[in-house]
Amino acid sequence: MRKMFGILGAVLLACAMPVLALAGPMQVAVGVAPLEHFAKKIGGNLIQTTILVPAGADAHTYEPKPSQMRALSGAVLYLSTGLEFEEAWEPRLKGSNPKLLFVHTADGLKKLPMPEGHEDHGKPGSKLGSKADAKGAHGHDDEMDPHVWVSPANARQIAARIADAFAKADPVHAKVYAANLAAWQKDIDALDAQLKAVFAGIPADKRGFLVFHPAWGYFARDYGLIQTAIEFEGKEPSPRRMAAIVSQAKAKGAKAIFVQPQMSQRTAGAIAQAVGAKLIIADPLAPDWEANLLKVAKGFREALQ
Ligand SMILES: [Zn+2]
Repeated sequence: MRKMFGILGAVLLACAMPVLALAGPMQVAVGVAPLEHFAKKIGGNLIQTTILVPAGADAHTYEPKPSQMRALSGAVLYLSTGLEFEEAWEPRLKGSNPKLLFVHTADGLKKLPMPEGHEDHGKPGSKLGSKADAKGAHGHDDEMDPHVWVSPANARQIAARIADAFAKADPVHAKVYAANLAAWQKDIDALDAQLKAVFAGIPADKRGFLVFHPAWGYFARDYGLIQTAIEFEGKEPSPRRMAAIVSQAKAKGAKAIFVQPQMSQRTAGAIAQAVGAKLIIADPLAPDWEANLLKVAKGFREALQ
């Protein structure tokens, strides 16, 4: 009880203390909705977030609007996951706001190679420079899977990086960020246990699922699943590839094709019809991260082939 009071007291005290460096909540910018969720878990009401990729937009081909660039002028931190547009736009965002600190939240994660069939889509920011420039400037490997946030194991590390960046930018509230991090990591562990339970006892030859866009590679890695993608090099599959996918999916008795709401479902729908499978929405960018991963997991579980 006394300990509880101690923690509560520290939190209250920290909140009541005058903020020396920052006036009002810390302005934090993020690219995609799951990162906003992570940021709010760590920052609570000490931060205010701006999100670049709006609901329904494709995170790969996204380009920030001038109004968003202006909205970022008050931000002190940008939480990047290393998506193509974030890498490409980093110099410009920093240029328009010199006090903006880019936090590369995915650095240090064990990256998976870009899944077969995934390429850089529309090459956002290509007007700003070549792929080689983006790569050379920061040492990021464009060929790695950028959908890092769909994995609870990755989320634990991303959360720690966010808490660290918040504490450095706003040291007055460092203890609050640390306490929020500890609490949320417990929740992530609980989610991870639930997800493991969803896939417990499934035979090794029944662990495949079929997606249009390969956003679930880290999730598949964490839970021993096999992701097969329809998309090839970020584009609609050729008729030949489509035919091959249809016959393979039929042979495996595919029950569902998972699509994300941000992308056209026309081709996926045609393939699903040819296979006799359902189209199911699995959104890697959903803001309610925990509930969404659990929902997607149950969808995969029903459809494993
Ligand atoms: Zn993607």
